[in-house]
Amino acid sequence: MSKKQLFSNLHGHDRLAFAHPLKRVTGGQGGEVVLVRGSFKNALIDCGMAYCHENTIKNIEEELSGKGLDYIILTHTHYDHVGALPYIRKRYKDAVVLGNSHSEKVLNKESAIRVIRELSEKAQEIYSEKREPIITEGLKVDKVVKDMDIIELGDRNIIIYETPGHTSCSISLFILPEKILLASESTGILIDENTVHTAILKSHKDSIKSAIRLKGLKANTIVLPHYGVLPRYFHEDYWKLFFKESEDKKNYILNLAKEGYSDEEILKDYISKFWDDEREQEQPKVAFILNAKSIISVVLKEYQ
Ligand SMILES: [Zn+2]
Repeated sequence: MSKKQLFSNLHGHDRLAFAHPLKRVTGGQGGEVVLVRGSFKNALIDCGMAYCHENTIKNIEEELSGKGLDYIILTHTHYDHVGALPYIRKRYKDAVVLGNSHSEKVLNKESAIRVIRELSEKAQEIYSEKREPIITEGLKVDKVVKDMDIIELGDRNIIIYETPGHTSCSISLFILPEKILLASESTGILIDENTVHTAILKSHKDSIKSAIRLKGLKANTIVLPHYGVLPRYFHEDYWKLFFKESEDKKNYILNLAKEGYSDEEILKDYISKFWDDEREQEQPKVAFILNAKSIISVVLKEYQ
């Protein structure tokens, strides 16, 4: 996969053309940040990486033009989605941070905060000239949300769907009345029209269940993490691709185990098969290896 592919558009469709009421306010490479405007309230979905917080905040300010930010919704607690939260919180002190009970728990752990800081530093080294200490104070959930909770913004609502699989804290958001789905990483990341990266770190079975549920929503618009807006004609194909890729990866790992590979040998094979330097555009290698270990152990735990 090349950088060009990663950022390519399907048949001329502009994946970054977020239509009203969504506004993409992402400040740099890494996790996407989306603002949802309502007639009374506004919500930010994810915060993106720490290193590009200045750009992200500038984009939010421009978009809100003096109005307040009411909610910050965390789709999960990985560093590329929450890294800039401490900075955005400083700028928008009244914003209430929403996440599910697992997000709350994770962000209360010192070990998790340490990983977020370390990976944020690594990302700063790779993606930025800047060398500043990463701030982690304020990485916390203010209010726990659960499945089917409704966040009211005035003329539109955001419905919470707990969609575990990638992590236990993964949530997806369904915006009504427009029927816009912001899917979580539990249901994959589109790379090009033939490739979905599944990143099933916590439960393969849950990921499949989450995908079946989200597919059933028959959204008018689907926004995928780390990608953007999926063209309408590709909705059905996307879900097919996700289910196939999940199944293929599961079988690949199970087959190596059957051939007698140790966990360490499976990891080695996995890295040589799925890592190439261009993938560093997407994530630092340390993050890739951390994820690979989880992906392998989940499959072996659930299916062996
Ligand atoms: Zn993630």
